[in-house]
Amino acid sequence: GGKGLIVSFGEMLIDFVPTVSGVSLAEAPGFLKAPGGAPANVAIAVTRLGGRSAFVGKLGDDEFGHMLAGILKENGVNCDGINFDQGARTALAFVTLRADGEREFMFYRNPSADMLLKPEELNLELIRSAKVFHYGSISLIVEPCRSAHLEAMQVAKDAGALLSYDPNLRLPLWPSPEEAREQIKSIWDKADIIKVSDVELEFLTGSDKIDDENAMTLWHPNLTLLLVTLGEHGCRYYTKHFHGHVEAFHVNTVDTTGAGDSFVGALLCNIVDDRSILEDEGKLRKVLKFANACGAITTTKKGAIPALPTEADVLSLIDG
Ligand code: ADP
Repeated sequence: GGKGLIVSFGEMLIDFVPTVSGVSLAEAPGFLKAPGGAPANVAIAVTRLGGRSAFVGKLGDDEFGHMLAGILKENGVNCDGINFDQGARTALAFVTLRADGEREFMFYRNPSADMLLKPEELNLELIRSAKVFHYGSISLIVEPCRSAHLEAMQVAKDAGALLSYDPNLRLPLWPSPEEAREQIKSIWDKADIIKVSDVELEFLTGSDKIDDENAMTLWHPNLTLLLVTLGEHGCRYYTKHFHGHVEAFHVNTVDTTGAGDSFVGALLCNIVDDRSILEDEGKLRKVLKFANACGAITTTKKGAIPALPTEADVLSLIDG
């Protein structure tokens, strides 16, 4: 109670992950179901930390879609903004890390239900009640869900929400940086908060220099906070008035899936009730330390959702 609502908009899907690592998809002896999709992970990251969130998106009216909605509900995420498509099925991904270190993806998306959300299907009342509106699915750049995306953003913004964007580019899949920048421009330019990974920074700028000058080429006039996450090196932050670096925590990493979503969930959970954090470097650094701890803990267990920490987990890493 008393906490502002974070609405997370976009895709939820199931990753099928091989039961053994370091093999190609074709060689996998079997697969485990790993529910995910960045916006859904963020929604659950928020409730696990004790915040309030809602997920807005479309699932197939099938076994997998109902399983995913059940996971959100079990985790205390408001599901009043979920639609079930009567025709298309829930998105599925087969994801593996091959022995050569390359990520391999295969998607069931032709098209999947998440891509078919229409503007008239949006739960506008729910979206208007958001204090923070977070988005970041590459599937949302195609119609009809692109129009739904732009409308939802505008409605949230008009109602006073902060807009938070994580491009989640799933890089091996993207044709070129020019195309990526063009496709995401209309959603990028409206965000108040943007978080990119170091890999996305390199890709979007076309420069492998992970420095301040390069990061600032991603700046746009409406932006309040730009974050670059650096995995085991923590994160860098940029605002109109100050910038800097916050170190990561040392942990025993087994699987980094969901670390970025956990980081974002933690950040938004703090900002939703206190926007002064965005103008106060001391406060912001404290929140980013908390977010780094969340990301770090998420890497210590397999999968994304099972690895998301509670507030107590985070405080014990920070204080320990
Ligand atoms: P993404 O998942 O978007 O690629 P990162 O991998 O950079 O994002 O992770 C987000 C945050 O999680 C990092 O800024 C860092 O604080 C934390 N983190 C990620 N990987 C590690 C790691 N190996 N050790 C400690 N912290 C990590």
